[in-house]
Amino acid sequence: MKIGELIVAKFGGTSLADADQFKKVIEIVKSDKGRQYVVVSAPGKRNPQDQKITDLFYEWHRLCQLRLSSDEVRDVIKERYQSIVDGLGINFPVAEELDNIGWHICEGVSADYAASRGEYLSAMIMAKALPGYEFVDAAELIRFDEQGRYQKISDHGISNMIGRQRIVIPGFYGSMPDGSVKTFSRGGSDITGAIIARAVSAGRYENWTDVSGLLMADPRVVNNPRKIEVVTYRELRELAYMGANVFHEEAMFPVQDAGIITNIRNTNNPSDQGTLIMPDFPKRQGQCVIAGVAGRKNFTVITVEKALMNQQVGFVRRILTILEEKGISFDHMPTGVDTLSLVIEDKQLYGKIEEIVYEIKEKCSPDLVEIFPDMAMLAVVGRGMAHTPGVAAKIFAALAAEKINVRMIDQGSSEISILIGVENNDYENAVRAIYGAFVDEPVGPTK
Ligand code: ASP
Repeated sequence: MKIGELIVAKFGGTSLADADQFKKVIEIVKSDKGRQYVVVSAPGKRNPQDQKITDLFYEWHRLCQLRLSSDEVRDVIKERYQSIVDGLGINFPVAEELDNIGWHICEGVSADYAASRGEYLSAMIMAKALPGYEFVDAAELIRFDEQGRYQKISDHGISNMIGRQRIVIPGFYGSMPDGSVKTFSRGGSDITGAIIARAVSAGRYENWTDVSGLLMADPRVVNNPRKIEVVTYRELRELAYMGANVFHEEAMFPVQDAGIITNIRNTNNPSDQGTLIMPDFPKRQGQCVIAGVAGRKNFTVITVEKALMNQQVGFVRRILTILEEKGISFDHMPTGVDTLSLVIEDKQLYGKIEEIVYEIKEKCSPDLVEIFPDMAMLAVVGRGMAHTPGVAAKIFAALAAEKINVRMIDQGSSEISILIGVENNDYENAVRAIYGAFVDEPVGPTK
């Protein structure tokens, strides 16, 4: 890390789950003067059975709307914040703040407003506990347009931020043109952090969570997978799309556009350097030409066969129009000389398959339409990998050695990933086989 680099540090819900977690965050922020902009989530779960503060605020709002008693949920929220404030030994009027919020909720404010209060209180408390830091409300900074899409950082907000130097900003929300509060989708504090990083031209966007970075494979499938040290935004996008998620998908774009490095770090293990997400870096060499392997189950493949398909103008359009009219998006579309396959997630197809097949037969007069259910898709991701000799051989030799039947291969036009379709039942073995082909350590299933 460069000395004197300007850092936006965003801390997720588990990093702020209780007073001890807040203390860790305070130490992390203090340990590097570059951490001038701190973005916080609402307190998350302290253990798997616990509740997220954001969910409790949504519940409070729901009960009020139904005119049911919400005292219990308000008390749980109050206790959570009070114990944080007490643990930090600071003065903060938790009860008063919650009375005020409760009044607004009863008056009929939106669920977005209620949910945003988790981050609002987190940031107010953090600003009190961090010497030299001031609170700046995200509602004054982050602006959405009439359609509820993120629009910009307000001019007033920018000068306010730059003028203050050290600030704490609540994540997850901003304001609509009429001044009402609007939230991003769940997990959206990542987006706030990325937007702020771009606005202040940060040298680095740190995203502090409860894992030491991204892993090369799903730890529920591969026992103790290796951490990814460095990955590009494009590689991460492929891995995230296939199910690897640590970082909100929409948060990548602001930082990627601005060429800012994102660093995923672990609040519970700050000495670990985590994963660096970079716009670019020199090509991976040696055994680990892959960044990782990710995948998802439950796809259906619809294969359409028609002799001389390539000579027919508009054939593919007719098929895609059928999907479009039914509101179905497809994930992949590998083609052969006289065949075309559509890979579609099962949840999009429920109850619609027969109709689709009927319409394809009616409108496209194919020679054959076949349906292959229960498929899983795997993406082996690594920049440049698809053009490196021997990589594909390694992948398919590993699958063959496990007697896994490869049902589909699609390298598409991207040199970033190779997509492989296998049966759902083979999915876990296939992930382990591919991971094992590129990583030295013995590979076992998760215990
Ligand atoms: N607190 C919000 C949520 O639970 C946003 C976030 O944590 O990023 O989704």
